[in-house]
Amino acid sequence: MIHFRQRTISKPISFSGVGVHSGEKVNLTIKPAPVNYGIKFVRTDLPDKPGVSAHFNMVVDTSLATVIGCNGFIISTIEHLMAGFAGFSIDNAIVELDAHEVPIMDGSAAPFISLIKTAGIEEQPGPKYFFVVKEPIELEQDGKFVGVYPASKFKITCKIYYDHPLIRKQSYSIDVSDRVFEKEICRARTFGFLQEIEYLKKYGFARGGSLDNVIVLDKKNILNKDGLRFQDEFVRHKILDCIGDFSLLGMPILGHVILNKSGHFFNHAFLKKFFKNKKSWEARIIHDINDLPRPRS
Ligand SMILES: [Zn+2]
Repeated sequence: MIHFRQRTISKPISFSGVGVHSGEKVNLTIKPAPVNYGIKFVRTDLPDKPGVSAHFNMVVDTSLATVIGCNGFIISTIEHLMAGFAGFSIDNAIVELDAHEVPIMDGSAAPFISLIKTAGIEEQPGPKYFFVVKEPIELEQDGKFVGVYPASKFKITCKIYYDHPLIRKQSYSIDVSDRVFEKEICRARTFGFLQEIEYLKKYGFARGGSLDNVIVLDKKNILNKDGLRFQDEFVRHKILDCIGDFSLLGMPILGHVILNKSGHFFNHAFLKKFFKNKKSWEARIIHDINDLPRPRS
């Protein structure tokens, strides 16, 4: 189901956790925000409490996580919280945190969803703008691919390939809605390979990473005692990441997104191309179901 009105949370919620890269404890509060505010992150630990909007043109790094920033300060690892907002169609919120990294929680978006549900969701009087895709936009490089095609809903099809016996080829497709996001996507955790994680730790990254917040794979197996939450948890997490990354456009897309072997860096490159191709989409208010585009395909 598509929400045609803007939404925020009904009351503030606070929680704490650890940054997966910094290993630092962080306290975070999500507050309701007015119509057309968007999602804004505020660093309460810095003088004058600077803030930055969760928008793709504020992205400063995508190598290990999605990092936004301006004027010399950053907010790191925003992607799973952003996926939680987008998955539940939360358009407006203020996220206050007292460190530079959003807590990793269990490596998925499920803890954020349960917090959002605890706070409650408020429908707001403002209408909602959507990016309506009119013509295909595609980006392909080194075997990676992202494309978006006209559709009357937000649909994602994702394919991944890893040379690992527990992954190999995985493919998954969803029509994004609160219900599908909650049931099929939000619990899928981030994953990493033992060798890479050891390398990252050696250079001071992944300090907060543990089997409590990352699926860790060695050459053949999973090290997490309880195994996987879904047999294809890996591709589901890539869809979660895509929902978070694409939410940085600032408005939801009506279109079918197809990803092949993509990640934060490539998704971000695609968003820049998408935004530049202004002839291939229009941004407009969709009032109700009768307003939805009706592509021929
Ligand atoms: Zn992720």
